[in-house]
Amino acid sequence: MSLLLKKIQSYKENVFQNHESHYQSLKSGQEPHTLLVTCSDSRICPQEFSQTQGGELFIIRNAGNLIPPYDPAHPSNEALTLEYGISVLGIPEIVVCGHASCGAMGGLKDLEHIKSLPLVHKALENYRQTHAAEVEGQSLEELISWNVTTQLKALFTYPFVREGLQNGSLKVFGMVYDFTTAEVTFNTQLNETGECSQ
Ligand SMILES: [Zn+2]
Repeated sequence: MSLLLKKIQSYKENVFQNHESHYQSLKSGQEPHTLLVTCSDSRICPQEFSQTQGGELFIIRNAGNLIPPYDPAHPSNEALTLEYGISVLGIPEIVVCGHASCGAMGGLKDLEHIKSLPLVHKALENYRQTHAAEVEGQSLEELISWNVTTQLKALFTYPFVREGLQNGSLKVFGMVYDFTTAEVTFNTQLNETGECSQ
């Protein structure tokens, strides 16, 4: 039996009764208030640190909390998840949440260190080449917040994101969360012209 299945069984037996009516009420659909883009890192527990329940967060996770720029001929999984969340569910805010000690950003800073991982190396090398002048000489902390801002600018390439920002139905924020202290160490907002301000 998988370790996860054991944990689910224990949850069903010991915890679920406290949440059953909440989940029954969600049977007919979801109305999440936030589309969260965050890193796959296991130390980031969004429902825990934001004290949210099932039905509140619609989440895209990948290494480095990355959003590929709009490319309708080759839609990424992130793109179709964004489209569904904004255009179908009508989620009123997107938050890109980077985090302290991000391994993906560590790899972006020091590509030599990840040479043994051909897929990670290639992806981060491409990312670095696209933004060479901005990445050069930045500390890990600077890179982590720069990366969040860069994803907000990538979000702005999606027509339905721009439209939502311009008609006021959508707000887009970026932040960096430090899981060792529960502090938000960087906070920014994307405006309707594609600029970020703190
Ligand atoms: Zn990370």
